[in-house]
Amino acid sequence: MTILKTRESYPDMMLYIMSDQPDCCPKCQTGLDMVEEIIIDNEHVFVKFCGECQREVLIVED
Ligand SMILES: [Zn+2]
Repeated sequence: MTILKTRESYPDMMLYIMSDQPDCCPKCQTGLDMVEEIIIDNEHVFVKFCGECQREVLIVED
């Protein structure tokens, strides 16, 4: 149920693969604020927020 809600909440979100780099906005490289951790398709997804771009960035573990 949580997963369905999540998918509706983030229909067009890009998923970024977490790499060795620190968590930075893929667009402006600003450090991201942790919002929450969710599960999509049995994968842990970290919802982060870029204060610079004012948008959420979804990151999955590699
Ligand atoms: Zn940004």
